[in-house]
Amino acid sequence: MIRPTVARVDLAAIESNLGEIQRFLSTPAGSAPRVIAVVKANAYGHGASEVGLALERAGAAMLACADIEEGVVLRRAGVQIPILVFGALGISDLDGVFEYDLTPTISTPTAAENLAAAAAKRAKGVRVGSDPTLTPLSPHSASSRRLRCHLKIDTGMNRLGFRHDNLARTLPEIAKSEYLQIDAVYTHFATADEPEHPAFNEQRERFERVCAALPSLGITPTFRHAANSAALLRDERVWYDFVRPGLLLYGIVPPPLASTLTLRPALSLHSRIVHVKGMRAGEGTGYGLRSVADAPRTIAIVPAGYADGLDRRMAGHAFMLVRGKRVPVVGSVCMDMTMIDVTGMDVAPGDEVVIVGQQGDGEIGMREVAAAIGTIPYELLCRVGTRIERHYLAAERFST
Ligand SMILES: *Cc1c(COP(=O)(O)O)cnc(C)c1O
Repeated sequence: MIRPTVARVDLAAIESNLGEIQRFLSTPAGSAPRVIAVVKANAYGHGASEVGLALERAGAAMLACADIEEGVVLRRAGVQIPILVFGALGISDLDGVFEYDLTPTISTPTAAENLAAAAAKRAKGVRVGSDPTLTPLSPHSASSRRLRCHLKIDTGMNRLGFRHDNLARTLPEIAKSEYLQIDAVYTHFATADEPEHPAFNEQRERFERVCAALPSLGITPTFRHAANSAALLRDERVWYDFVRPGLLLYGIVPPPLASTLTLRPALSLHSRIVHVKGMRAGEGTGYGLRSVADAPRTIAIVPAGYADGLDRRMAGHAFMLVRGKRVPVVGSVCMDMTMIDVTGMDVAPGDEVVIVGQQGDGEIGMREVAAAIGTIPYELLCRVGTRIERHYLAAERFST
């Protein structure tokens, strides 16, 4: 059973985007930073299992996800490389961290306490069940009773992380724990995609001061990382040991930045016209009867709506491709359908509609749709609905 509206995910594009990022990072001089590939939120809507495995194959050093549950999905899919969990773990069930060999972030004092307590319990041999679907563990956490973690510093975003200016009070407790091992320290930029904003440099400088001060607080991480897609594009100084791109891997440059990287958008959205009808002058279409026509129009119905992740603001602002031509979205985006104006075109039920992607000489990108409706491509990607089947393209073949 296949609905007419599908998302095609080009895994070869994702692998090639990773390669392109790695080429960009390789400096003639020292060693290049390695890539922590960000696959949170179901790999930005592309499908975490398929994308995670593709990125592992293509040479990502590590994957990163939002919470333990997402990490478990990746392990169950067979991912073997380390998986970093970004989220706050203060109120989480932590069993998955141990049973699925995930690398948690210590980003709050409560998370540190909970992780240390859970690691102590494990080290003392208390078993809390085990999952039979678990793939064999990589040896990096099994060999030690210490739980390997990354430490997050808040250098100004005021979200998660230990405040950069209060570490003498918060970190010594963590440094003392015999059950935690801080492998890496990291931070996150609030304004990496705003080239003129002074906070970016301030955060960088704070992070470097923190890194310099950590040993005096008893913490000696091996690695540092800070850069999301926008930060890695704009400033070599924040590459450190690892970079953490998300959006770039999916073939999209974070707006408003430009880049010379040769990236290929990995996701395209396709549907098919289910009905074509004439509308007389003076009539409107859809809820609210907007787009009242002053002359007869031809309307085509596309079986995808806001339940599939299309945005209601697309009506009157966005376009779709039919026969390689851009046609406007009119009326209203409904829950399950959307209307497009195909006046003057020879179209019939069954004709392909491209909502995002290429068709003939036409192309509509996620950045364009996001700009047309006043949001960011991240949001549109994540919202591609669960009702939409993902078809994966790898090595010139589609599989579902
Ligand atoms: C989402 C996220 C990233 C990736 O951001 P992009 O802008 O998609 O590159 C990197 N680091 C952290 C902590 C994140 O939450």
